[in-house]
Amino acid sequence: MINFEYLRVSTPKAAIEALSRDNTSQWIAGGTNLIDLMKKGVMAPQKLIDISNLPLKEIKKEGNKVHIGAMALNSDVAENELIQREQPLLSLALAAGASQQLRNMATVGGNMMQRTRCPYFYNTDLPCNKRQPGSGCGALKGFNRMHAIFGASDKCIAVHPSDMCIALAALDAMVLVNGPKGDRRIPFTDFHRLPGDTPQKDNTLERGELIIGIEIPDNPYRKNVHYLKVRDRSSYAFALVSVAAAMDLEGGTIKDARLAMGGVAHKPWRLSEVETWLKGKSVSDAVFREAAQLAMRGAKAYGQNNFKLKLAPNAIVEALKAATQKT
Ligand SMILES: Cc1cc2nc3c(=O)[nH]c(=O)nc-3n(C[C@H](O)[C@H](O)[C@H](O)COP(=O)(O)OP(=O)(O)OC[C@H]3O[C@@H](n4cnc5c(N)ncnc54)[C@H](O)[C@@H]3O)c2cc1C
Repeated sequence: MINFEYLRVSTPKAAIEALSRDNTSQWIAGGTNLIDLMKKGVMAPQKLIDISNLPLKEIKKEGNKVHIGAMALNSDVAENELIQREQPLLSLALAAGASQQLRNMATVGGNMMQRTRCPYFYNTDLPCNKRQPGSGCGALKGFNRMHAIFGASDKCIAVHPSDMCIALAALDAMVLVNGPKGDRRIPFTDFHRLPGDTPQKDNTLERGELIIGIEIPDNPYRKNVHYLKVRDRSSYAFALVSVAAAMDLEGGTIKDARLAMGGVAHKPWRLSEVETWLKGKSVSDAVFREAAQLAMRGAKAYGQNNFKLKLAPNAIVEALKAATQKT
């Protein structure tokens, strides 16, 4: 039996103050990740501050941006008419995540903050530098089928598990944060971090900083978009590899493109160099194959995940093809 106090707050200010008063406290939103972590003994907050009722659930157009509140539910965002019309890549990525029941509970802020699914992180009997810095990385020479092929370190080869975040990285979203020192805006691609020597830090948020919402600037990616998720079963499974692809096409020419991958790194893996390379090229399988080869530069596998070195470029080609074929 794990005992903890429970407190419900109704304003962001109260949420931030309550957390800063008590070092052993933790915010809880949908609870779909935090409760699992508490049951496994990975996290043991003594006080849960319920932020699920904060008035941060809006999904609206503000000038030339779409604003999504941090407490908006994953299912509400995926099924929202504005999102489906103006940001369909986000809708597709969200719909590929977890299961309908989980999406009905999970929030945007909680999805961004969810922890890795590395089995060494979840098993407190095994070494894991992310859970217990200095204990070692069991996955390096162990069970690493799900693990990173980009940007890993000898301290951690875990991957970031979210689908939603891969689309948000591709769409140049901005994270809106409120904290004890005031407001902050963090470009989405700078929000999550690579493990380096401090894999215990998943992102650049300071303790006490609350995600208020995200903004997505207008973009031309309303039709030729695709989110390809390769996984062990077609629902209720995390990505082995995923690709978020968005194309702005003029005839058979690529005016602009966005590309990001999931399941391959400690953060959503944006492929900016490939995007630049694709600009002005003609749509063809050969071009997509060359783009995929460029994307794989610097990739490194760890044994059980060697298959990702083939799977990832194939997934890029398939996602680009599927995006161009949308009519
Ligand atoms: C069986 C299963 C399968 C899943 N499959 C997938 C999948 O395929 N794809 C996928 O993307 N996800 C998947 N998930 C993960 C799921 O999407 C996350 O658990 C969910 O998004 C977390 O949101 P939450 O609101 O429940 O967060 P919570 O569990 O409530 O919170 C998670 C963490 O975020 C912090 N937090 C929450 N909101 C804020 C905020 N506004 N500001 C700062 N910190 C905050 C909390 O303090 C906590 O540390 C799966 C989960 C399960 C259990």
